Amino acid sequence: MTELPKKTKDEKRRKDEDLFKVVDSTIDYRTYLNLIQIARRLNIEEYLGAISSGKEARIYPAKTFDNKYYAVKIYYTSTAQSKRAIKKYTVGDIRFEDVKVTNTKQLINTWAKKEFKNLSRLYEAGTRVPKPILVYENILVMEFIGENGLRAPLLKELNDEEITQELYDDLIQQVEIMTKRAKLVHGDLSEYNVMVYDNKCYIIDVSQAIPIDYEDAIMLLKRDLDNINRFFEDKGINIKPTEELLIEFGVS
Ligand code: ATP
Ligand code: MN
Repeated sequence: MTELPKKTKDEKRRKDEDLFKVVDSTIDYRTYLNLIQIARRLNIEEYLGAISSGKEARIYPAKTFDNKYYAVKIYYTSTAQSKRAIKKYTVGDIRFEDVKVTNTKQLINTWAKKEFKNLSRLYEAGTRVPKPILVYENILVMEFIGENGLRAPLLKELNDEEITQELYDDLIQQVEIMTKRAKLVHGDLSEYNVMVYDNKCYIIDVSQAIPIDYEDAIMLLKRDLDNINRFFEDKGINIKPTEELLIEFGVS
């Protein structure tokens, strides 16, 4: 069998504008230039249309030349409310003491960096989260959860018959790893921030997570567990009361 000649670097290289499948007016020029640099670094062939646009960020799938996908989270706004939240969560957080939180751009970048750091800490501790790849200014690149650029469903989006005891146990186990090994509390955990792929729970959206020994952390963990328990109990799953879980996690 004869092999086809490999494409040269020049043939592979596309015009920068071809990188973007959909022209997205929310991407400012600086972000656009950064996305081009990141594409070169990660061998990205194209960015696809946004799969979500939340209050603070958008997520875009990025396809590489070898048909792998990344999830690219771009932080693009900072509402008054989120500015307060960023300050609340970063001022007094020793990990971010050297970060200046004065102007809006810096605040947005801090939020991206914080999510990257939390993802890294969780990933290294063995929590099932998207693997963090890189962060640059307001752009965070992570493992894509799903297949062929099609994202996996959120826990919220599953059919009732897909919501099983095994799934509950798996999620509680992930929260236990998060608490005991990563020593972080998510702080916004619910059926909207858990993706389910291959019957396994992936915890996402961790920008606001805080160390377990911080003020209010136990209260937030309790709220996270209450949210999960409420969701699964509604679906007829046998849940463990939050108080018992807190004792098992060694924080009560
Ligand atoms: P929202 O305000 O809608 O919650 P957000 O700004 O909090 O958005 P995320 O929750 O991190 O952002 O992500 C938004 C959505 O993007 C998720 O609900 C999920 O559908 C999708 N998503 C997030 N991370 C990934 C990933 N790694 N792989 C695939 N899809 C993802
Ligand atoms: Mn979210």
